[in-house]
Amino acid sequence: MKLFNSLGNNKEELQRNPNGKFTMYFCGPTVYNYAHIGNFRTYLLQDVLTRILEVDGYNPCVARNITDVDDKTIRDSIKNNVTLKTFTEKWTKIFHEDCEALNMKLPDFEPKAAEHINEQIDMIKILIDKGFAYLAQDNSVYFRIASFGGYGRLSNVENRELKTQEIDSAGKKNLADEYDRENVSDFALWKSTKPEDGENFWISPWGKGRPGWHIECSAMAKKYLGDTLDLHSGGVDLKFPHHENEIAQSECANGKKFSRYWMHVAHLLVDGAKMSKSLGNLYTLGDILKKGYSAQCLRYALISAHYSQQLNFTLNNLVAARNAIEKLQNFFHKISPVRNIQKFEISEWKFLKDAFSALLDDMNTPACLGNVFKLINETSAESLDENQKHELCEEFSTIMYCLGLRLDDEEQDVEIPEEIKTLAESRWQAKQSKNFVEADRLRKELSNHGWTIKDSSTTYTIEKSEP
Ligand SMILES: [Zn+2]
Repeated sequence: MKLFNSLGNNKEELQRNPNGKFTMYFCGPTVYNYAHIGNFRTYLLQDVLTRILEVDGYNPCVARNITDVDDKTIRDSIKNNVTLKTFTEKWTKIFHEDCEALNMKLPDFEPKAAEHINEQIDMIKILIDKGFAYLAQDNSVYFRIASFGGYGRLSNVENRELKTQEIDSAGKKNLADEYDRENVSDFALWKSTKPEDGENFWISPWGKGRPGWHIECSAMAKKYLGDTLDLHSGGVDLKFPHHENEIAQSECANGKKFSRYWMHVAHLLVDGAKMSKSLGNLYTLGDILKKGYSAQCLRYALISAHYSQQLNFTLNNLVAARNAIEKLQNFFHKISPVRNIQKFEISEWKFLKDAFSALLDDMNTPACLGNVFKLINETSAESLDENQKHELCEEFSTIMYCLGLRLDDEEQDVEIPEEIKTLAESRWQAKQSKNFVEADRLRKELSNHGWTIKDSSTTYTIEKSEP
């Protein structure tokens, strides 16, 4: 498989790992709120990458961390008057439910930062011993950027830009700490405890405190996948400073290259603008379901654009996704006796060679889908003999497996929002009590929301109106 390596900015053939497993580390969620669809775009495309590598025999092994200790998790757990553990466990569970609804594979390892404090302290000790880090007056430990010549290689951030950065480990401006550091761009490996941290501190050789954000990825990647990763990935917003800092920590502590390949997923815009709460365009999976689209529609909409291109997400994307899935489903049912998607070992691609090649060429999901629909448009399933049908079915199924699309009917069922269900029930009751004016009014209201009611003698069904 070929992939664009953000380290060096070249499309490269991914070399298999001679030791057997192709190790990948993905930066995971900070569990303090719902993940939004921009986060999920990245996780979903990483999921597709893992599936393609699996089908292509790379034997991928994935670690994705859970950030369960940082400024935001601590702040909100205190606000909610629960322990940090209780608070982050709740949001981790919600994250897992969303992942499952979106048909994402579980990573092989999912380490939590708060359960790996010792590993982080050990790595910080090594960095201090080797002269790459120092203890400041405030009992925090900082990484000395000037000691690492390779700093900035990934993001091509210039030294001049670095000097104007005043960013703490959470990626926010942090002027308060500045005077303690030798250089404004030095970042915290260990933060001494502050009153607003409450009881959330650990004992270290440098006193009470907690790790900075970046060190968890370096320490946990090392523990679960070793000193050198095959591939590291995250959203493009993590390139600097987070990934740059991970490289600095890991390479200085381990004395080895941190990751052979880097893959960054581009930003997601919503209605042409950056997502934000104040603009009202920040969507979670729950918001999408409430609008009557399935999790699979969202999955399709988010993976069908190329990962390196900015995606402008609008609700029209979901309408298009719904139609596309229906088309895939109809075709699959014509060629397949069974309805579950699985991967097959295909020695020679005949029908969907171009579609699979597109995935192997820098994970070109739009080109892959383009080829699949070309085949659908040009092929009449009835004209295929049983043998051809069987071969096509295996290839089609394998491509759908790579994309993580399920084509069974149940999964495609549209989720109906609670408010619509309530309205529909009220209408049915009105009709039963022969209040036809009210029943008609409610039918119109449902229609305005895009839902159609179909009555039988004893009950009714709710259907999404044709767009
Ligand atoms: Zn990370």
